[in-house]
Amino acid sequence: MASECSKCKNSYVPARMFCPSCFVEMKGTRALEEPGYVYSYTTVNRNRTGEPNGPVTIALIRFEGVKGGIVHRLDVSEPGSVTFGMKVVPILKEAAERTGALTDILAFKPA
Ligand SMILES: [Zn+2]
Repeated sequence: MASECSKCKNSYVPARMFCPSCFVEMKGTRALEEPGYVYSYTTVNRNRTGEPNGPVTIALIRFEGVKGGIVHRLDVSEPGSVTFGMKVVPILKEAAERTGALTDILAFKPA
């Protein structure tokens, strides 16, 4: 879900209440139907406490024509298969468990 500013017509992810350019409240939201793309990524082999774990690939996902981006886990079997600009789509929770928040996204996977 992206928010859309009625003044400057820019769209932003994650959705936010105020436009960072115009400081006007953004009431419009639109669903992101197009796949996102990998803007940047890293593979980590340790968890938050420093224990060996993973590998887990974390990526900054961006969307064409949308400002900002989402940092999320990439669900790939081979970390080496990730490339910059690779198209990805979200893996969502079961429809009944979704709240419309960013937490509805479990991970991203190759499109
Ligand atoms: Zn604006």
